Amino acid sequence: MGLSGIQIFKLLPKTNCGECGVPTCLAFGMNLAAGKAELSQCPYVSEEAQEKLAAESAPPIRTVNFGSGENVVPVGGETVLYRHEKTFVNKPGLGLLVCDDEPEADVKEKLQRFTNLQYERVGLNLRAEVVALKSNTGDPAKFKALAEAVKATDAAPVLIGEPEVLKAGLAVLKDRKPVLYAATFSNAAEMGQLALESGCPLAVRGENQDDLVELTEYFTAMGIKDLVLDPGKRTLRDSLYDHVSMRRLAINKVFRPLGFPTITFPCEMTNDPMLETMYAGVFIAKYAGIVILSDLKGENLFPLLLQRLNIYTDPQRPMKTTEGIYEFNGPTENSPVLVTSNFSLTYFIVSGEIEASRVPAYLMVLDTDGLSVLTAWAAGKFVGETVGALLKKTKIEEKLATRKLVLPGYVAVISGDTEEEVGKNWEVQIGPRESAHIPAFLRQNFPA
Ligand code: SF4
Repeated sequence: MGLSGIQIFKLLPKTNCGECGVPTCLAFGMNLAAGKAELSQCPYVSEEAQEKLAAESAPPIRTVNFGSGENVVPVGGETVLYRHEKTFVNKPGLGLLVCDDEPEADVKEKLQRFTNLQYERVGLNLRAEVVALKSNTGDPAKFKALAEAVKATDAAPVLIGEPEVLKAGLAVLKDRKPVLYAATFSNAAEMGQLALESGCPLAVRGENQDDLVELTEYFTAMGIKDLVLDPGKRTLRDSLYDHVSMRRLAINKVFRPLGFPTITFPCEMTNDPMLETMYAGVFIAKYAGIVILSDLKGENLFPLLLQRLNIYTDPQRPMKTTEGIYEFNGPTENSPVLVTSNFSLTYFIVSGEIEASRVPAYLMVLDTDGLSVLTAWAAGKFVGETVGALLKKTKIEEKLATRKLVLPGYVAVISGDTEEEVGKNWEVQIGPRESAHIPAFLRQNFPA
């Protein structure tokens, strides 16, 4: 995957003019291959070479975007098989299925849950993004009415039906750039035309991977670039097999006909809500682009959102909170200053406990490069010197009449050094080891 420096050099003008910032085209080619330069730095590269280099540098699985506004959902764009190799790029879109033969009140309730079930965790908004609208009646008028109902939400849509029905849905939701589902051998020409006219991504369904290859080559030749694949199987075992083997072919062999994100329907694999949730979890791990569920309830959606967050968080970049002073429960000049690290999870747990205590307090977050308190201490980043330096930098002292600094219980060992660094104006206290004990500690030591 990717061209070598020599291969890139062969596509460059070879004039060695130096305008790209290095003396020779060969050096520039080497830098490009190493990701240290941008092709745009050479003003003389031909269009043909540009196209070739862009195609070669594209990820083996194409990124496809659908939805609009704040809720654009990018799927695909993956470059590795395993998360520990690098990182997964675009989390799968999680979605809800609504059908045009469902009672209106049921659809309304489901869409209400779609909108309401959002969770704030580690500074992120976790939610489902997708609504799949399915035509069971084949009636364009009914599908249009369903599309109107979905339009009231901010969902990124997937329109499921035959071309005539999809046109009725597009009349309402075209601006959302919906995924059009599904092109098959029997409707390929019409669906291809619809995708070209609307500019929307096209989902392709086959009975097996060979079908998909034939269909994607057909649509690619038509000029349709944004494709989504449904390998068609509706058992966990067969669908998982297809997802894994398609991903391997796309990544390991750079096999472009299967280099597209997938859509999967756990809602069509079982009637048991618990099993459906487990199936969805399997496809989040391996390797769905869009996962459609029959309904969204807190007990099935929340664990899937957390699983997705865990898998799609870059393991090489710890989640960090910005260094500084945070205020809780309206602190006064007599409120304590607690200290913690900037590892996001630590910050959100500690801040949640301070908030729950209802005791006015400041929380000073120390930049530890995203390490937790104990690890940061072991790495020399959470020590008396760094705590003291930050305390001075924040000038929190100017807001306080009584100066009490509370260290996490696990780093009680740095209290002596910290006292020296912060000076006699400050009283250094040791807080609890476990964040769950913070409310009791605060209420006992700093009563209102
Ligand atoms: Fe070669 Fe282009 Fe760099 Fe000039 S600007 S040296 S032509 S790569």
